Amino acid sequence: MAWPATTRYGLPVAPGNLGLVQDFLNTITEGTIAPPDLLATLNDAQEWADQVIEQWISVDDLGWAKTLPRLTENDRKALVAFRDQLFEGLFGHSHSETAGGPARKNPTYHPVMTVSAGGIELWPGGEGWKYFETALLLICHQGQLEGVLRRMKSCKSDTCDVVFYDRSNNNSGVWHDVKLCGNRANVRAHRARSAVN
Ligand SMILES: [Zn+2]
Repeated sequence: MAWPATTRYGLPVAPGNLGLVQDFLNTITEGTIAPPDLLATLNDAQEWADQVIEQWISVDDLGWAKTLPRLTENDRKALVAFRDQLFEGLFGHSHSETAGGPARKNPTYHPVMTVSAGGIELWPGGEGWKYFETALLLICHQGQLEGVLRRMKSCKSDTCDVVFYDRSNNNSGVWHDVKLCGNRANVRAHRARSAVN
């Protein structure tokens, strides 16, 4: 198995559970290749969910992965809204496809903390797909504490929001694909300069 959404872009995947966050965000349709939005219909979303959960279970080292109930149309709509919100929360702007769309009003999430002889542990809480959303937030939070979340970026191109994991030494990458998006931006900048001169 592989992360189903991210591998559509031929991208290297983020390590461990962060790969789940990256894959969720990459279900959007973006970029030159413009593959379908994997959450656009209930059938597509269920197919993605089956694959992503199988992959999540295989890489999970936090003990959070579990099988989830079949998606309902309401779950699917909530996931789409959550995807927009998470994208904006991580990257500071809405993604180009859904900018200006209806946003949910600050839903809250409830992680669970336990203390035992094994130590203090944090778990996702919530029923059904709310559990999944809470898990994604906790994974991001953990990545934030470990300093690796800042390596997860959305492509700098105006027309591409593909989410990539920057493995460069100084974390300086800005394009999901330098040839595809970096070159197009250079050509546009060159044309703009030529038009002015
Ligand atoms: Zn790109």
